Amino acid sequence: MTASSLQNGIARLGDMIAEARSIVPFTGAGISTECGIPDFRSPGGLWTKNRPIPFDEFVASQDARDESWRRRFAMEPSFAAAKPGRGHRALASLYKAGKVPAVITQNIDNLHQTSGIAPEHVVELHGNTTYARCIGCGKRFEIGWVKARFDKNSEAPDCEACGDPVKSATISFGQAMPDEEMQRATELTQHCDLFIAIGSSLVVWPAAGFPLLARNSGARLVIINNEPTDMDDVADLVIHHDIGETLGPFVSN
Ligand code: NAD
Repeated sequence: MTASSLQNGIARLGDMIAEARSIVPFTGAGISTECGIPDFRSPGGLWTKNRPIPFDEFVASQDARDESWRRRFAMEPSFAAAKPGRGHRALASLYKAGKVPAVITQNIDNLHQTSGIAPEHVVELHGNTTYARCIGCGKRFEIGWVKARFDKNSEAPDCEACGDPVKSATISFGQAMPDEEMQRATELTQHCDLFIAIGSSLVVWPAAGFPLLARNSGARLVIINNEPTDMDDVADLVIHHDIGETLGPFVSN
């Protein structure tokens, strides 16, 4: 993207934001790469290193659970050190200005909440990795509790209350999507007049259906991503550029 087409794109985005009544941002891993958390599909992304562990394997195998937690602990320094980036802060500014009722995110890193968006206004389609839950009774456990048990017994722990496995509170491949979050995301998408997809490769379904739903419900659609997506053709504005640089001008605090 040339400097002048980027400037035009940012100016057009500014106009669309000013004209909008209700803006729904939809974020993916790309908004957090500048915060030191790798995405999945870029070079150096998590998938280039590890095959994801599907949910049924996690349930069936202690080895898979141990491996899953080893990977999670290896990521802990990155998650613990991460601070909201310019993209998160721009969305928090629009939220505080009353333009954004809630953010829909595929991310699991809690950075929208850290940026100042109330937890009840962050719709997490794929859960949250900053804590854990029992997959049976749903009891919440902190990561430090899991780590202490793992270090003591060299095994991923089970729930103290019901004995089922404890898993980071994320949605794995093969695990059901959360009903309430899907419902809320659907309603937000249908009622906004500007939908901005930010840093998502838009290939993971059903999450990737939301930009199309927005468009079909009459909203304007903007896509911000440093590479093309399959949905670029249906968008009203596409900015192929770094998210921090694109959204930095919209940070107001
Ligand atoms: P993805 O890895 O499939 O796509 C990220 C997209 O963002 C890519 O198209 C990439 O080119 C683009 N991108 C990366 N950095 C960018 C930047 N600075 N500026 C502009 N574009 C940039 O991720 P996804 O679409 O969110 O979906 C995959 C799944 O990955 C999600 O389910 C999510 O749960 C999980 N995930 C989350 C995190 C996180 O919480 N931060 C990190 C890795 C994976």
